[in-house]
Amino acid sequence: MEKKVGVYVCTGCSIGESLDLEALSKVATNEHKAAICRNHKAFCSDDGVQVIKDDLSGQEVHRVVVAACSPRFMYEVFDFGPDVITERVNLREHVVWCQPANNEDTQMMAEDYLRMGIVKTQKIELPEPHIEEIERRVLVIGGGVTGMKAALEAAWAGHEVVLVEKSDQLGGFARKMHKQYPKSGSFDQLQDPEYASLVQQVEADESIEVILSATMELIVGQPGLYTATIRKADGETLERKMGAVIQAAGWQPYDAQKLSHLGYGVSPNVITNVQMEEMAGANNGAIKRPSDGQPARNVVFIQCAGSRDPEHLPYCSSVCCMVSLKQAEYVRRSDPDAMATIVYKDMRTPGQYEHYYKKAQADDGIFLTKGDVVSVSDGSDGNVLIEVDNSLLGEKVQLEADLLVLATGMKPATALTLSEAELEKAVAEGKVAQEAGKLEKPFREEDVGKPPILNLDYRKGGELPHLKYGFPDSHYICFPYESQRTGVYAAGSVRAPLDTAACETDSAGAVMKAVQCLALTAQGKAVHPRAGDETFPEFYLQRCTQCKRCTEECPFGTLDEDEKGTPKPNPYRCRRCGVCMGSCPERIISFKDYSIDSIASMLKAIEVPEEDEEKPRILCFVCENDAYPAIDMAGLKRLQYNPSVRFIPLRCLGGTNLVWIADSLSSGIDGIILIGCKHGDDYQCHFIKGSELAEYRLGKVQETLDRLQLESERIQVHQLAIDEYERVPEIVEAMVETIDEVGPNPFKDF
Ligand code: SF4
Ligand code: SF4
Repeated sequence: MEKKVGVYVCTGCSIGESLDLEALSKVATNEHKAAICRNHKAFCSDDGVQVIKDDLSGQEVHRVVVAACSPRFMYEVFDFGPDVITERVNLREHVVWCQPANNEDTQMMAEDYLRMGIVKTQKIELPEPHIEEIERRVLVIGGGVTGMKAALEAAWAGHEVVLVEKSDQLGGFARKMHKQYPKSGSFDQLQDPEYASLVQQVEADESIEVILSATMELIVGQPGLYTATIRKADGETLERKMGAVIQAAGWQPYDAQKLSHLGYGVSPNVITNVQMEEMAGANNGAIKRPSDGQPARNVVFIQCAGSRDPEHLPYCSSVCCMVSLKQAEYVRRSDPDAMATIVYKDMRTPGQYEHYYKKAQADDGIFLTKGDVVSVSDGSDGNVLIEVDNSLLGEKVQLEADLLVLATGMKPATALTLSEAELEKAVAEGKVAQEAGKLEKPFREEDVGKPPILNLDYRKGGELPHLKYGFPDSHYICFPYESQRTGVYAAGSVRAPLDTAACETDSAGAVMKAVQCLALTAQGKAVHPRAGDETFPEFYLQRCTQCKRCTEECPFGTLDEDEKGTPKPNPYRCRRCGVCMGSCPERIISFKDYSIDSIASMLKAIEVPEEDEEKPRILCFVCENDAYPAIDMAGLKRLQYNPSVRFIPLRCLGGTNLVWIADSLSSGIDGIILIGCKHGDDYQCHFIKGSELAEYRLGKVQETLDRLQLESERIQVHQLAIDEYERVPEIVEAMVETIDEVGPNPFKDF
């Protein structure tokens, strides 16, 4: 592609009256040989856009640099089609709205950004999407309510579906339920479980192939190009070409054996809410004591049994309060003279469910009290004694129950299934990450003990990596339904503790993600957060040393390996984050429009003043997802910050290659700041742990700097959320103060 660059410096939004436009024009045309540099009072106007279009159609220019507002605005206005490289230089938010007008430092800043924009435009190429014929069939694993609803949603969206269920019938746990709590109408009447109509619809839908008594043997490939091997109970294996996968494996109850302090396993008349449901389902609603089969007439429920408890399940399972209210109604229906008492920490009945809670409150046979259970012990005749403190009655009370029901919580079906002893052994043998340490604590994808459900043939493991508490979610703020494996989505209570109604909605969300993924994959485009990006990483493997850093650090399991350790890319799994590019010490991974060279050229384009000019230069690599918009916000709010900083956006901070740090320091840059997203369990990094990786890599550079007797404080890393824009000036100022203390970069004059 020809490289004649046109530079278009807008004079609107205070740019024209704050900067020396002639000097900018000289930077473009004299210094960087741009073919044209034009001004317009509003390039975003029809008239302004036409100026650029005319230059393009007349072949005056082939590549465009628009120096105006942030690239986050006017995106469509400055889109000149897929054949034109367009770079946006942010003179508005990042220069004139955060710096004094007509000032030498402001002008230097604007000129540097213009240099960087032109150089980048000259260095990059148009993307060439990777396009193959893909399969659009959707594989749904799990035949419960979520799985059936997902299969129907995908079929209604025009996709063929293969639904794999491990048992010999569809319906899942709903089959065992006696009643379902209300999800419509006046929300005060119990309903029959809804699975039957879903089973009927699934069986009647010709585009859904149901395979019962079967599990996944292996899933090989990438979105749009998966081959799934399904093993049936009789040993037969079936192979299906698939496009996307919905994991709807459901939940498992918390192990009540660990609740002996609440009487479980001690008295036969202490059961869980799941056992209560199964009993009611099997006996048409009759509630009986397990010890003697006599009707239960005085039933106590303990809420949050093992839930919201750091020693057991630290989270709320969201359904248990409504389940106990429902089961209290079973008790009352079973025998109108029977009593039900619910002891809770808080009753959580959100939204319309409050109506059902009110109905229970109005029932004289249902007693509800807040309270802390102090002890559970045996009473006479198989009864159970429950001592409760801090109750609404204001004093310690003792309740006697002929049946005690523990409202236990939900774990994802994929959670660890090892016993404590087995886990301890696995930790001792180094098979489990030490921090897993204990059941129900967050654990890592390489942990053993998870029941295999997907069996993905990925170098980074066969199952979906988990976030907090073993749920395979990806990003708790921005991307519900998303997993860390492109094309594979979790739905229902395997993703989060959800009730039946929420599971149905959830399945629609997951199917929507799968449909989006297939539509974008067919065009060679990325799914979010870089939705529509047509680039993908290219590997110059002749120079690969098989160090495996890229395969290990890719957050999405995109890269498999051959037997020697050479990466084998699966482009459709890729989210285009560039983490692999940052990881490669050989610098052999790049994208057509984002490369080691394009960023290195940008940072080298910055004019670094001589030491005696006493104008430090600070380079700041920022994540484009949170930090860059935060800096835009600082501009919008007219926050002023030190003019020595130059921001370079990266797709993800995890893409920071150490060579850029070395290049910056050797070109005389005095300090380097990296601003990425928050990390940890509640991470906000759009690419899972990119900012964490950047910190890790930077830790190594700092050791090297120490050895070279260059102060390690010259490199500072910050985490910034999008709404923390007020911190931008102080982050820059902290580096300025550091440079004041340690002095200018000693390599400046070399
Ligand atoms: S690290 Fe990012 S860009 Fe590289 S292969 Fe993985 S997903 Fe793609
Ligand atoms: S990081 Fe670079 S050198 Fe190492 S395995 Fe990957 S491509 Fe090869």
